[in-house]
Amino acid sequence: MDKTEHHGSCHCGAVQFEFRAPADAPVTVCNCSICNMSGYLHIFVPKADLDFTRGQDQLTQYRFGTQRAVHMFCKICGIKPLYQPRSHPDQWSVNLHCVISGTLTPKTRIAFDGQNWEQSIEELRAKTS
Ligand SMILES: [Zn+2]
Repeated sequence: MDKTEHHGSCHCGAVQFEFRAPADAPVTVCNCSICNMSGYLHIFVPKADLDFTRGQDQLTQYRFGTQRAVHMFCKICGIKPLYQPRSHPDQWSVNLHCVISGTLTPKTRIAFDGQNWEQSIEELRAKTS
């Protein structure tokens, strides 16, 4: 599948980025404590395929549990447009809700049992790497 250009941002626009991904890249839905609370929808993007165009320094960090995931949210509006997932150290997880213009329309929805992370991770990596 050819990769096409997409744009993402937080709510206030202080943080903006562009990335390349297939238009029908799969979306992953995780049931862990933080994803469930925020309604986060994951699109995994290799770091080489994403560039910040504005305000990377406007992101602040939150870590919990193993401290390996770096949850990031805009200091101004509080929205989490992307973050460093524990599951894919060489990729960003972009929040599908923060991709503007509807250029990404996933056809596949992958359920990830983040409440049982250690048991579920290899299966997820096989589907999304
Ligand atoms: Zn913002």
